[in-house]
This record gives sequence, structure tokens and C-alpha cells, in this order.
Amino acid sequence: MAHPPIEETEIAEAERLGRRDTAVDARKLAVIAKHMRGILETLGLDPSDPNLKDTDTRVATMYLEMFHGLSEGAEPRVTVFPNEERYTAMVMEKDIPFYSMCAHHFVPFYGHAHIAYIPNERIVGLSKMPRILEFYACRPQLQERLTEQVAGFMAEKLAPQGVMVVVEARHLCVEMRGVKKPGALTVTSAIRGIFFNRPVREEFLDLLNRRG
Ligand SMILES: [Zn+2]
Repeated sequence: MAHPPIEETEIAEAERLGRRDTAVDARKLAVIAKHMRGILETLGLDPSDPNLKDTDTRVATMYLEMFHGLSEGAEPRVTVFPNEERYTAMVMEKDIPFYSMCAHHFVPFYGHAHIAYIPNERIVGLSKMPRILEFYACRPQLQERLTEQVAGFMAEKLAPQGVMVVVEARHLCVEMRGVKKPGALTVTSAIRGIFFNRPVREEFLDLLNRRG
């Protein structure tokens, strides 16, 4: 379905309010804001309420920020290094926080991810693992798919002996609506390579449960 035509002045206004510098983002901002205005009006809200003034543009700006993983060029540049130390044990980054949006209900799910790999020829800078997670989290998402995508990206870039990713998250679509189960935790995992061996998975869980 074609979008309604957007007035150039609206784009200029969106640019001013949203401080977006590209024309593509300005256009997206104006279109989303327009639809958001439609939602507010349909709900019978008073657009002259000072708290609702600019809400359309605020929501549009927020969506562009939260979904920046969809933007062209958003994929993190991951430099890999030769594994000169011949390190062949497990490397784990645990308790990496993330926020994402449920693709089914467009409300947040959030929690922590634990990412581990056992290198072959390549290793990766530790700060890259949170970046990879964020790239896939910043889009309408399913927790299962997020978990698989992070594992797949690591496997492709590093060609390691194996990768394991565990994601633990709370879903507001479960807590605020429907079955209304506050505090319920959804756990997903994705496995590649050597992590299919039980002793390797057990080592992962040992490291994960080790505190302080
Ligand atoms: Zn949901």
C-alpha cells in the first residue's frame, strides 16, 4: 500500500524536531509520526493536550533509534585477530544486557545474553560481542531468532570450534497483557559445533554460574 504523500514542510519539521540528518530518516520519521497521529486520534485523545503535543514525532524518533539495526550499514564491523597464542579454551562474555522489541506485539523484551566460543584460527575483540548482540536486538525481534542470529554471526565471522549463546529475557507482552505473568523469564539457547558435546556445554554452565 502506498504511503500518503508527505509534505516537504513536514519533513523539514521532522528533521528539526528529530535532529536526523539524512533525507531517508527524515522521510521515515514523517511517515511514522503521521501514522502515530492517526493512532492517537483513533483512540480519541486530544491532540492539543500539552503532553501529547509532539508525541507523534517523539515516538517516531524513538522507533528510528530503537530499530537502528535495520538501517543500511548498521552491521558492526568486526575485526578478527589471528589466534597467535593458540588459545583453545572457552571465551565467554556473560550478563550482557540488552533491550529489544517483540515483533508480535511491539512492546519491549529485555534481559541478558551470555555468549561463548572456542576459537580456531581467529579470535575477536571482547567488546564486539555486545555490539553484535545490540545489532540484532535493535529491530522488531523474536528472542529465538535473536539467539540464533548472534550464534550464526559469531560462527560465520570466526569459524570457531564452536559457539553457544544463551538469552534470558522478560517479555512485557507476557507481563502486561494476555496471561499477565510478571517476572517470568524466557530462556533460549543456540549452539554451534563443539558445544553439541555435553562436557563442553557443562563447562559453559559452570562458567555461567560462577559468581564474583
Ligand atoms: Zn510479544
